[in-house]
Amino acid sequence: MSETTSGGKWREPGFPRNGWTCGDVQDLEEPQHTCEVCESASVRYVHWLTHSNYPQQLGAGCVCAGHLTEDPVGARDREKSAINITKRRANWLKRKWRISAKGHHFLNTDGYNVVVFSKGPSRYAYRIIRKDESDAVTWSPRELATEEAAKLAAFPAMLALKVRERAARAAAAPPSPLPFGYGAFPRGPGGSRRT
Ligand SMILES: [Zn+2]
Repeated sequence: MSETTSGGKWREPGFPRNGWTCGDVQDLEEPQHTCEVCESASVRYVHWLTHSNYPQQLGAGCVCAGHLTEDPVGARDREKSAINITKRRANWLKRKWRISAKGHHFLNTDGYNVVVFSKGPSRYAYRIIRKDESDAVTWSPRELATEEAAKLAAFPAMLALKVRERAARAAAAPPSPLPFGYGAFPRGPGGSRRT
């Protein structure tokens, strides 16, 4: 059933109808979660929403999340990214893993070099190297029983690295300049104020 904003918490007086923030979107593999806002739509992709004046986090569908965050486009984009990650995870093992000179399976993807090592019978690990000037190395925190398991474990680890890197970049970026024409007057040649 399609998601509408006519029932559930939408009818509750005092329920905050805006000002919500979406943390992340979770894929439950099946539409098995009832949206906690409209309390009727069964959703597969759960948008986790928080609000400073609401005691708990709510798991919502895309429509309710779009309204409560006042950003339906952003909600759809977040859901699309989650769908894309699901597809990528499904294809991850089927990708053309190459074999290094030392006989390890590896993949160069997303700016990372992902390698899977055998450390002995039923002992596998992955290593992810960021292919930039940092050459940052991440090892699997534990050994895995099969090569497939190590490859599968490397996928969310790589995504987590990407998220962390994006957050670090955002934190380091200078505040975006005001659009042209705002704040200071544009200066013409010689510094004279253009009129
Ligand atoms: Zn809903």
